[in-house]
Amino acid sequence: MAIVTQVQLKNFRNIPALQWDCSPHCNLILGQNAQGKTNLLEALYFLSHTKSNRCSQDYELVTAGELPCNTAVSEKIPASPKTEGCLIQATVQRLGIHTMDTQLEAKILPATHGKSGWRTQFRLNQQPIKNRSQLLGQFPTVSFYSTDLLLLRGGLPQHRRHWLDAATAQLNPLHISHLSTFQKVLQHKNHLLRQLHSPQLSSDQQAVLEVLNTQLATSMSLVISGRLRYLEALAPHFEACYSKLCAAVEEKPTLYYKVAGFSKVFTSKSSASLVGLAGLSPAEWEAHYTDRLTQTMGLECQRQQSQTGPHRDDISVELGTGLLANRFASQGQQRSLVLALKLAELALLEAHLQETPVLLLDDVMAELDPIRQQQLLQNLPHQAQVFITTTHWDATTTASLETLLTANAPLTIWEVSQGQLRLK
Ligand code: ATP
Ligand code: MG
Repeated sequence: MAIVTQVQLKNFRNIPALQWDCSPHCNLILGQNAQGKTNLLEALYFLSHTKSNRCSQDYELVTAGELPCNTAVSEKIPASPKTEGCLIQATVQRLGIHTMDTQLEAKILPATHGKSGWRTQFRLNQQPIKNRSQLLGQFPTVSFYSTDLLLLRGGLPQHRRHWLDAATAQLNPLHISHLSTFQKVLQHKNHLLRQLHSPQLSSDQQAVLEVLNTQLATSMSLVISGRLRYLEALAPHFEACYSKLCAAVEEKPTLYYKVAGFSKVFTSKSSASLVGLAGLSPAEWEAHYTDRLTQTMGLECQRQQSQTGPHRDDISVELGTGLLANRFASQGQQRSLVLALKLAELALLEAHLQETPVLLLDDVMAELDPIRQQQLLQNLPHQAQVFITTTHWDATTTASLETLLTANAPLTIWEVSQGQLRLK
């Protein structure tokens, strides 16, 4: 079981400094809007995933300018050489896995050697690490955000891809390296395409694009294979969780991975009904992307943008009735499907690690009706350490949370105000 015992933050978003001894059971974080509740959970998420769930650039986590100030940090504003940057640190106990505590640290600092911008430095047990993937898996978490409730219907494909990649990387830390290699090559290629003055390529440009396409085909095949392996393992948990939530009233939904330009490639139904390209090995995916990239090269030069790859893929769910949940699910179905997806993520991670992850629940109870609140709470592992934020909390939910999650241990209530945390 993973437990965060201590958190230290410095210049993290609106939190100037924090030294926090957390409860190993349920930490309820209360506070008005814009006080720092989500920021606290984001710090934990960052150490668990080595990336934020709210921004793509680490420097946005650094407190903007002089406090109090809530203007966003802009890339265009170079870091002042005097700034200390931001510190995010936590001590994690892995009961039954490691005898020693694990210390995870991230520092977001101004770039050195006269360069502008920022750099992120990670340490594991005080030792610097070179690659983010070395930190993944050290601090397993599963998060539920109120915005996740829009994951299927209303959410954007990039949110679904972000969720899928973050969940995949917790089981397979190399996924984050594959993804980052892919994104770097893709960025390079898009940069080159934007520089083209005519769709007619010179022989030099053609040669560079071919090299980039070869690198892309390899990295794309690794990214998609990682995602599909994850979904394949997730699918039975997803079906089981949905049946549990809906007490088998509805037919099982089906989870699909959609490859851009193709229809269905992966389904959570039995392997006999796998459609199209499902079940391809990484080498076969590489051959597939090599062909696709060659076919689309003309179009890419014309549109000056890459047209194929897993950065355009999506996931979707088909209801038992055959209708697409992304377009036709009712409010209630949509919420149950998302809860089933998140509970399946939790079940799979627990089964894989043989350990209970830390749960991060951000403002999620307020968005759920009483039935789904109970469904969520009843299906969470009772012994897990929980961080849960809310602006208000009623007596019924407190009582059920206490009995469900903390098994005789008291609920610890924290209050956050203007980035300062105190025991209530
Ligand atoms: P809500 O209940 O509305 O969700 P919250 O307590 O979860 O509120 P947070 O998202 O944690 O609020 O944000 C708290 C404050 O931190 C906001 O005022 C936000 O503008 C501010 N903030 C965000 N990023 C930075 C930053 N880099 N520097 C300084 N302040 C920031
Ligand atoms: Mg919030």
